[in-house]
Amino acid sequence: IFIGMIAGIVIGVLLQLLFDDSGDFTFSVFGFQFSAYSIFVDGIFSTLGQIFIASLKMLVVPLVFVSLICGTSTLSDPSKLGRLGAKSVGLYVVTTAIAITLAMSMALLISPGEGLNLTTETSFEAKTAPSLGDVIVNMFPSNPINSMAQGNMLQIIVFAVLFGISMAMTGEAGKRVSAFFEDINTVIMRLVTIIMNLAPYGVFVLMAKLFSTIGGDTIFSLAKYFFLVFGVLIIHGLVTYSILLKLLSGLSPVVLLKKMRDAALFAFSTSSSSATLPVTMETARNKLGINNSVASFTLPLGATINMDGTAIMQGVATVFIAQVYGVDLSLGDYMMVVLTATLASIGTAGVPGVGLIMLAMVLQQVNLPVEGIALIIGVDRLLDMTRTAVNITGDCMVSCVVAKSEGGLDEDIYYNEHAGEKEE
Ligand code: ASP
Repeated sequence: IFIGMIAGIVIGVLLQLLFDDSGDFTFSVFGFQFSAYSIFVDGIFSTLGQIFIASLKMLVVPLVFVSLICGTSTLSDPSKLGRLGAKSVGLYVVTTAIAITLAMSMALLISPGEGLNLTTETSFEAKTAPSLGDVIVNMFPSNPINSMAQGNMLQIIVFAVLFGISMAMTGEAGKRVSAFFEDINTVIMRLVTIIMNLAPYGVFVLMAKLFSTIGGDTIFSLAKYFFLVFGVLIIHGLVTYSILLKLLSGLSPVVLLKKMRDAALFAFSTSSSSATLPVTMETARNKLGINNSVASFTLPLGATINMDGTAIMQGVATVFIAQVYGVDLSLGDYMMVVLTATLASIGTAGVPGVGLIMLAMVLQQVNLPVEGIALIIGVDRLLDMTRTAVNITGDCMVSCVVAKSEGGLDEDIYYNEHAGEKEE
């Protein structure tokens, strides 16, 4: 996967250098005009990339639904579910709050927006942040088929958990249905493995397409902002997670970070925690030794409500935009930012670029100009990729802590360097 990524970046950059600047290399066949650049970039890479992402997304709803039903029905003690929920939601909220606080502190220290006089004509429309009450009410599906059709993760989770519990309580009939779902689960996991075998090629085309279109010059005009977000993402991903994992579970952080590599590359190339979910779940179960009843619950939940990387971007961006526009934020405003960013991330699914929509809510909440977003849009694509990798690493870290505390983590698998490799 790593080789696929590097090769994709190299080919993408080469294509851009060779064909984009120096006039396109065009030719015609039977009167149709073709250009080398468009054949590769808009044709082959774009088509294959879209097919790859669609195949990943295709797995998400059935995978979450079926594995969560299986996971819930095998929980010996239903009160465990309450504990699982409380622990994971608690940890997700705490890690997000740490992330955004870290980001804002660093931004205040470094002042990325000071002295910049940027103007923007583009406008950006903000939606208001949902209230906690709305978020909770919206978790309950009135029509589960509709929730699945729309990929509404929280609603699918609620339905699957209720279904799983009822199945466990239904005696013989429940056992038959359970055996049926276990079989489907095995088949779906097989499908995940098949698609993962194609991952190096998928990552290659996604990277080649992106790097043949992305321009380097925008990054330089916003270098301070870009590298600050990037730096905080790396610090949070490597240092904060290591400390938390060690403190809360005693597990070795180096093992976690090493085993997260493939999933993180996936997240990086797809920019979507949701699309990466099949890979995250496979990593958690086969490489980290987290059992299905914990993984199938914590990870889909995390892909939806836990976005530490996104929170970091929002923290830095808020301070940056406030500085560019010369607005002074009070301590109360900063607390408001932490609150809104955390709440907004609960109701928003992890898809590419959604962080900007959440940022709009945050800016509006503290009366900063929402069109400030237009300033940072240019460099957001690369940051989106990086923060998605952090988002899913955070999900797995929390999942490890919860699994360890609930006796759901197989340390033989966790510490086995080659665990999960033969399945690929
Ligand atoms: N792309 C991110 C994710 O899926 C969300 C974001 O920050 O835009 O986790």
